[in-house]
Amino acid sequence: MLDGCTARCQSEMTEYRQSGYWKGELLGSSLRRWAREQGKRTALVGSRTRLSYAALDAWADRLAAGFQAAGIRPRERVVVQLPNIPEFVAICFGLFRCGAIPVFSLPAHRNREIRHLAEIAEASAIIVPAVLRGFDHRAMAAEVCDAVPSVRQVVVVGEPGPGQRALAEMDLPGSEAGAPDPPGDPADVAFFLLSGGTTALPKLIPRTHEDYGYQLRAAAELCRLGPDAVYLAVLPVAFNFTWGCPGVLGTMEAGGTAVLAGDPSPETCFALIAQERVTLSSVVPTVAHVWLEALRDLEPPPDLSSLRVLQIGSAKLHREVAERIGPAFGCRLQQVFGMAEGLLTMTRHDDPEESVLTTQGRPLSPADRLTVADPVTGRPVPDGAVGELLTRGPYTLLGYYKAPEHNARAFTADGWFRTGDLVRLTGRGELVHEGRVKDVVVRGGDKISAAEIEGELVQHPAVRQVAVVAVPDPLLGECTCACVVPGGRPPRLVELKRMLLERGLAEYKLPDRLEVYDTFPLTGLGKVDKKLLVADVQARDAARVPG
Ligand code: AMP
Repeated sequence: MLDGCTARCQSEMTEYRQSGYWKGELLGSSLRRWAREQGKRTALVGSRTRLSYAALDAWADRLAAGFQAAGIRPRERVVVQLPNIPEFVAICFGLFRCGAIPVFSLPAHRNREIRHLAEIAEASAIIVPAVLRGFDHRAMAAEVCDAVPSVRQVVVVGEPGPGQRALAEMDLPGSEAGAPDPPGDPADVAFFLLSGGTTALPKLIPRTHEDYGYQLRAAAELCRLGPDAVYLAVLPVAFNFTWGCPGVLGTMEAGGTAVLAGDPSPETCFALIAQERVTLSSVVPTVAHVWLEALRDLEPPPDLSSLRVLQIGSAKLHREVAERIGPAFGCRLQQVFGMAEGLLTMTRHDDPEESVLTTQGRPLSPADRLTVADPVTGRPVPDGAVGELLTRGPYTLLGYYKAPEHNARAFTADGWFRTGDLVRLTGRGELVHEGRVKDVVVRGGDKISAAEIEGELVQHPAVRQVAVVAVPDPLLGECTCACVVPGGRPPRLVELKRMLLERGLAEYKLPDRLEVYDTFPLTGLGKVDKKLLVADVQARDAARVPG
């Protein structure tokens, strides 16, 4: 049973089943159904492979047999850290089919994050690439395996290190195509996504077979996907946005084709859009911006004529950029607000232009419930006013994994999830994101917990006090600024970065800039006043601009 499931949420779960939102299907069985319906049609395209639904289904069976033979048992957790390659999808379905639970990590994660995930999940295995962008993931996985007692094995996609196993060894003859569905409870956790991190290290978000099955089906329907849909996975496939909003899985639910891009660069992605006749993709505003800039210079312009919709989400999209999307790409913009915890809002195909440019649309499901509350009193704000978004619904989590204290803060007593986002709702019920109460830097699409970075930086000998704040940035949306009160000689940014790297933190978490202070402004309660600090950093920037 999931953490946080009260009598009230039990009755909501019954309602989700009775209303047909939850279909009682395991994700492993969904692939079987897709293979039955779509057979030889192309499910997945990687840089060197094209896989039919039938081939993907058979591969997942063979891997499930291999994982079982390797001793991976039902309900064991397995950290999966892979880039956008077909193996990611086959491995996840192989794990679903043997009842094991993938924990999705990002390719950018390093020792610190992987170790944390393995520890909190008590993972029995870690699956990594050999070397990616010059970084040896095998060596890192070996360190984690030594440090975390539950981890019994490391599986490598590619050449394994000493004592590790190659994925190819696990590709064993499995059950015959069309074999009965593997046993399991659709209410069980299918996989863990990672929280955007308001706490020092990411929390695990349990997503069940039936809640996620519903999300991807509803998202595919909202986006009107059919068998002619071709989805380009640009962001890491382990992101909720890429995996199931509708993403790779929603496209397969609709019988379409998911194409995996090796990197988000315009060169790679424009070529794939032209070659595969991509109809839908999803990106963060930073990537959209880079694509827009690249389009200006390209002669002859790339053939993007197949693109119908570009979803943009995960960070604030400014109107000026939003306005350029349709004319530049010849497609419809769809704004998406969402979180790995569940709730998604999206603009619709037939929404008025103004809504598409300035709002993040309406909730995905008629059963999603949204309240906007005063962050201090917790009471609902008047219609149209800004407050913290609270939500519950058929695909929103009931509690983070093994985090009772955090759950007590993240949920109200009667089970509403406090998103930490400041929003307002328009008269049409559209959500407009206005800011955050949670202490997170949204850098590009990456979420960085200020508390995590502060906890590390304060250990530097030249740092007496530190506050990490998000400062507006023209390209990234926000960048990470470390504000430091030094103890003696002020540290240099490069020293701080080096220390974080040496401590095994992912590179995207390194501060982009450093500002030195004698003292910090404080709130009435004696805490660092980060709002004032950001204003001060911006005032310093303005004073530095010549002229
Ligand atoms: P993640 O779970 O990593 O997708 O992060 C979820 C968080 O990203 C949300 O709680 C928001 O703070 C932020 N976010 C997602 N979509 C948007 C959007 N369209 N505009 C602004 N912020 C967003």
